[in-house]
Amino acid sequence: MIQSGLRKKNLFLLYEWFFSHRRNLPFRNTKDPYRIWVSEVMLQQTRMSVVENKYINFIQRFPDLKSLSMADEDEVLTYWKGLGYYSRCRNLQKGAKQIQKQYGGHFPSEWSDALKIPGIGEYTASAVLSIAFNRPHAVLDGNVRRVLSRLYYPLEDSSAVLRNLAEDLMSVRTVDAGFHNESLMELGSLVCKPGIPDCKNCPLSGCCNLKKHGSRLGTLVPPGKKSSPLDIRMHLYIVHDKKKRILIEKKKDRKFFKNMWFFPYAVCEETQSGMKGFEKELPIPEEILADIRMKHVFENSFRHHITHHRIKGNLYWMQCGSVKFKPQDSVYFADLQEVKKLVVSSLSEKVLKILDSNFNI
Ligand code: SF4
Repeated sequence: MIQSGLRKKNLFLLYEWFFSHRRNLPFRNTKDPYRIWVSEVMLQQTRMSVVENKYINFIQRFPDLKSLSMADEDEVLTYWKGLGYYSRCRNLQKGAKQIQKQYGGHFPSEWSDALKIPGIGEYTASAVLSIAFNRPHAVLDGNVRRVLSRLYYPLEDSSAVLRNLAEDLMSVRTVDAGFHNESLMELGSLVCKPGIPDCKNCPLSGCCNLKKHGSRLGTLVPPGKKSSPLDIRMHLYIVHDKKKRILIEKKKDRKFFKNMWFFPYAVCEETQSGMKGFEKELPIPEEILADIRMKHVFENSFRHHITHHRIKGNLYWMQCGSVKFKPQDSVYFADLQEVKKLVVSSLSEKVLKILDSNFNI
């Protein structure tokens, strides 16, 4: 096992720094595992500045496991709007239901039980159990990985090595496990940042190998480099009927917005020609396709990011005639107010804005 070079004295400097410099965030100063869990799930892949207000609104509406588990899924999704990665939100509610049923509404404090809850992986389990129950599970998120890989520079590029180091530090801590984890994460967010670290203001600069080494700061990339995003093309179809109601659908078997209300769309690899792919099968019910006409094409009209996909999009504004289409539970024409209520992603907001500024829908 790699021996920790950080002595208790250095850890104490870290804790002292955290005590006086930590941000006053709405989910700090609570030991409620539900609230910590919500914040950790929201923070996965989403910036703190976006999360703060969303978290406050979410907790006001769903203050505990019970209220979340009993809520209507569509309503829960509206409170997630703007955070993206909607499967996280669904799993959160699924997990809340499971905890209600299986653990009588008490978040499990054992590692093996927590990992059985939908959407809880090792990172989330470590964060929740350490902060809420003082369990000695070391968090290893992107911030902690970066701090450790710099402190112990040069380091073998391996998750196992970093995990070992994180656990080693956890074992010599002199404070609560949650306080210890949060100190390291906060140091990575505020001081030992991606790019050029702010070593002048770092409480650990006296024991940091990268600092000692005098190597060019900022060039060190922590293990687990991010893969580059995938470029894809989205063809998104806004089909309306004579009453200006818009076709929306809820599907399980599609790439994005699974099981959420959204507009029909198709995706393909990004090509030189934005229109390529449009002629392929349209993801629209046959009865509607039988009498449809194109009103306008907005080529390259939007850009969006979803889970490592960089999307360029074409928007097709189409009208259908008097079709014999039977609305179904998962596909129907909705009026604009309903669309705004049910289709809650930030991409749908962009799309509706484009239509509104062109057609005043
Ligand atoms: S001294 Fe610099 S590189 Fe080392 S941990 Fe602190 S901020 Fe990071």
